[in-house]
This record gives sequence, structure tokens and C-alpha cells, in this order.
Amino acid sequence: MNIGLFGGTFDPIHKGHSALALAARNHFNLGRIEFVPSNVPPHKAEQPMASYFHRYTMVALATMSEKTFLPSLLEAPKMEAENGASRASSRGKSVAFNYSIDTVMRFKAALKKSDRLYFLIGIDAFKDIAKWREPEQLFRECEFIVGSRPGYSLADVANALPEKLRPKAATTKVFGKQSATGDLALAGVTLHLLEDVNEDASATVIRQAIRAKRSIARFLDPGVAEYIRKNQLYRTESAA
Ligand code: ATP
Repeated sequence: MNIGLFGGTFDPIHKGHSALALAARNHFNLGRIEFVPSNVPPHKAEQPMASYFHRYTMVALATMSEKTFLPSLLEAPKMEAENGASRASSRGKSVAFNYSIDTVMRFKAALKKSDRLYFLIGIDAFKDIAKWREPEQLFRECEFIVGSRPGYSLADVANALPEKLRPKAATTKVFGKQSATGDLALAGVTLHLLEDVNEDASATVIRQAIRAKRSIARFLDPGVAEYIRKNQLYRTESAA
């Protein structure tokens, strides 16, 4: 089976996330996509965030109506603690960071030999991939599906690769064009590009809109919107 792993802060999960997952499922015949809310992503360790519990619950609500979409506890705080991934943050608190390479290895341990793993990611996040922990191993372990996002260009996706894996300039343009997707296969890297993800939603904008008391309904699954309202999430700068 083709299986997708989709990690994110999901603070909150919104229609941009589901648009990417739906496009990936349809183009790559994914039988299952696991949405993995991260406990504390290293690049967001210093910013206030809704609790893991709230973010996981919203992911569960938003994925309920799609049979192939599943919420995953793979980066639940307890598992991270068991994994010994604790670090001291600059605020002096001990935080359990999530690294995608660890998550992928844990996830793969439960897969069958015949399963094929795809890592789903938006182009904005992919641009920083070279700064992630062990990016070269991550690319060896799974294929990547990189989705477009309004405001970001997919054109220079190859330039975001870690230097060792980056192709020579001429090669970066060799994409097999096939209905809104393109592929880039290099030694140690397989990237599939999804150019038809056009949902202009952003968790940052949603949180700001809630604080400003503007409507956010168009960006969210109705169950998630109701959950946010009932739990009074994001009404102040320091989320619940
Ligand atoms: P924030 O604004 O808090 O940074 P976000 O909206 O980017 O959040 P994340 O949970 O950080 O959401 O994103 C998880 C993954 O989903 C990332 O790979 C990101 O690139 C992708 N993603 C988020 N929003 C979109 C979107 N509108 N279109 C395509 N991909 C998206």
C-alpha cells in the first residue's frame, strides 16, 4: 500500500492541510495518510502553542470524514519522553523536541515490506529541509511529496536540498510533467511535486483573525471551528 505521513504543528489544522493531503492521495493513490501533530517542533519551540491535546483533537475532528485520513499519536509527548529526546530550551524549560527522522524510523518499523512511504510537506516547510536533523537519511528513508502553497514557488525546490544532494543547475529543470505533478529523482532523493494545491489558509493568519474577532469559518472544518469556539482557543497571544 502507498502510505502518506503528514507531520505538522496543526495549530490549528486547516483547509490548506486537507487540500495538500487530498491532492497527494488522489495523485499518488495513497491508501492511508497519517496526520502527525508534533509535540514541540524545534523551529517553533519558542512560540506559544495550543496544547498537544487540543491540536490532536482538532486533527481527529478534521480527519473524521475521510476514511483514508487518520490522526496519529506518533509524536505524542509520552512517546517523545520515552524516546529520550529532551532538550533544554533557551527559556530554561526542558522540552521534548520532535525530529522527523525519528518519527519516520518509528513509523517504518510498523510497515510491511510491500508498503511504500511518502512524506507529505508544503513547499514553505520544504525550503528549510536542509536545516532539519539528518536530512540525507530522511531522503533515503522515504519519497517526498512537496505541495505548492499560495505565495511560494515550487520552481527552485531542488535548491532547497542539502548541498550534497543538490543537483547541478541544469538538472533542476528536468521534471516529468504529468497532470499537475512533476518528479525529480536523484541519487538518494525522490521528490514528487504537486502543483495544484491552492488553498490560501495559514494557521498564523487564523490565530490572528481569532484574536481580532474576524471570521475564520472558511478556513476550517466546521467541527474544528466549533471546537476552537467552545474551548476559547487563540483568543489571546498565549494559546491554551
Ligand atoms: P503556521 O502558520 O503556524 O506556521 P501552517 O499554516 O504553516 O502553520 P503547519 O502545521 O506548520 O501549518 O504546516 C504543516 C505542513 O502543512 C507543512 O508542511 C506546511 O508546509 C503545510 N501547509 C500548511 N498550510 C498549507 C497550505 N495552505 N497549502 C499547502 N501546504 C500547507
